Amino acid sequence: MITAIYPGSFDPVTLGHLDIITRSAAMFDKVIIGVLNNTSKTPLFSLEERVNMLKDAVSDLDNVSVESFNGLLVDFVKQKKSNIIIRGLRALTDFDLEMQMAQGNRVVAPDVDTVFLSTSVQYSYLSSSVVKEYARYGVDLKEFVPECVISQLIDKIK
Ligand code: ADP
Repeated sequence: MITAIYPGSFDPVTLGHLDIITRSAAMFDKVIIGVLNNTSKTPLFSLEERVNMLKDAVSDLDNVSVESFNGLLVDFVKQKKSNIIIRGLRALTDFDLEMQMAQGNRVVAPDVDTVFLSTSVQYSYLSSSVVKEYARYGVDLKEFVPECVISQLIDKIK
């Protein structure tokens, strides 16, 4: 039984995230999405809102669950009896930071590995920040976020 953890801010979840989640769910027995309660960033959506939007977005994936966590990612990973972290890579600009985080995590937890999935081409430009920017200017959001996120994002931006 192999469990993998997909951590992130998900502020909010996008179709790019959902693509990584769906592909991971086909690869591992169980995927737990870990929504970071990051005190150094001020998210648009509360932790509870981010968790609930994700739960809605993955409701048709039987082996995927959503939880929030505080503190060190590797502690959360071990607590969930996993040793795999999933991260998505969009471009070279992601690589530097992701490599640094993966290597740092291996220093503090040598038995935990990071698996990188490359983005699907159609989502290579997509981020939660881009989506929030589009929402501010009234762009149709259906190409970018799951259906259940659209109205909440529009309400929040207002
Ligand atoms: P964080 O603040 O941890 O970077 P994000 O919610 O921005 O949280 O991203 C979580 C993970 O999803 C990261 O590994 C990020 O690179 C990946 N990701 C974000 N958007 C995409 C996308 N469009 N395609 C593939 N991976 C993505």
